[in-house]
Amino acid sequence: MEGPAAFVSPSLGRRAVDRRESGLLLSHAMQPIADPSPEPQPPVSEPGEPAAPRGAPADPPAEARDASAAPRPRRRTGPPSLFGLTPDEFGSRLVEHGHPRYRGHQVLDWVYRKRVRDPERMTNVSRKLRESLAGLVSLALPEVAEVRVSRAQDAAKFVLRLHDGERIESVAMRSRRGVTLCLSSQAGCGMRCAFCATGAMGLRRNLRPEEIVAQVAHMLEATGWEDPGYNLVFMGMGEPLANYAQVVKAIRILNHQDGLAVGARRITVSTVGLVPQIRRLSREGMQLGLAISLHATTDEKRRQIVPLNERYGIEDILAAARDYAAKLGRRVTIEYVLLAGENDTHDDANRLAALARSVPCKVNLIPYNPVPHLPWKRPTEPTVQRFADWLAPRSPAVTVRWSQGTDIWAACGQLGSRASGR
Ligand code: SAH
Repeated sequence: MEGPAAFVSPSLGRRAVDRRESGLLLSHAMQPIADPSPEPQPPVSEPGEPAAPRGAPADPPAEARDASAAPRPRRRTGPPSLFGLTPDEFGSRLVEHGHPRYRGHQVLDWVYRKRVRDPERMTNVSRKLRESLAGLVSLALPEVAEVRVSRAQDAAKFVLRLHDGERIESVAMRSRRGVTLCLSSQAGCGMRCAFCATGAMGLRRNLRPEEIVAQVAHMLEATGWEDPGYNLVFMGMGEPLANYAQVVKAIRILNHQDGLAVGARRITVSTVGLVPQIRRLSREGMQLGLAISLHATTDEKRRQIVPLNERYGIEDILAAARDYAAKLGRRVTIEYVLLAGENDTHDDANRLAALARSVPCKVNLIPYNPVPHLPWKRPTEPTVQRFADWLAPRSPAVTVRWSQGTDIWAACGQLGSRASGR
């Protein structure tokens, strides 16, 4: 099924890629992504560090998995990553080391706006700071192991290799509606949704804030697709709300005026339905978009495909979504993946309409993107159309998401199915 998508080999991380050579139609030539300061050596594992739980079940409780119970990234040596510090934290670090706070603003302007990571090129920064910057913070980004561009040139999948060898995937998409960058929040995922490629990997570990911010930095650097703005969606690998603290911190960095200045309304967090974290997110004081992965209209059916439904049932999740919508004054999105013969009947459409009417929302139907070795199938196009046509007049706004990038295994739920083998 894999077509002749343009393919850029792992050498991308080490040299500039000629646009003609790679066949890319990205609006910028791919820039060299070699680091100005080398990544610290792969660290040795720490004593007592939990082993990566390949095949971990959906338990322990998802909320406990937030940072504390999930396998932690192995500690890196060297200074903290600049990409994992809020601008305030960075300013404080400078002050601690005898530099004025305003220098932080200048450095971040070089890094996030001018995309210059070599301190020597930061011409308005004092010589003293230019010389000591690399000792204060790491300016390295993880290596890009691979980039694949779809035949239609409207999607590019980036595989990043993290300092401990984990691989994560992110996707840049461009359509008439604009540019969307799809981000991973974990390496693998512990939620085990039955139809999802990433779910089949199990949770390997939570991502750090800098590993989330780096995905955006890399995609912008490689594509130049940032005008007049872009959307960020946490719909890549992982369950963002199971890595709550680090995802929220990354969002604060991305959202900050001195960071990438992405408006909160342009950022959407998609969740399988971790109710306490949905409620917590509504109190963060940011106008973030929320998407709920519903996928079934009865608890009985949902339990079969989304194991977390044992813990949080449809009504609990919709109640949290309702409160979120009320508190933020914005509609949530209900995502509904259409699986042939599972959740695509007339009755399903009727029940979905009733559920959708109970929440200020829009409904996003996602025809299933097949995953190798998993038995689920996409309904035929007429079935998808019938489902949407029946639903539309009975429900709040309905859209069908025909995923981009299926030929490069970059569509929803396909991340981890290819190219991420270690
Ligand atoms: N953990 C988050 C993000 C998952 S990916 C969540 O559950 O919302 C984003 C969306 O893609 C989710 O709705 C997810 O259920 C859906 N998805 C997973 N696998 C899919 C596949 N193979 N085809 C289509 N959608 C899929």
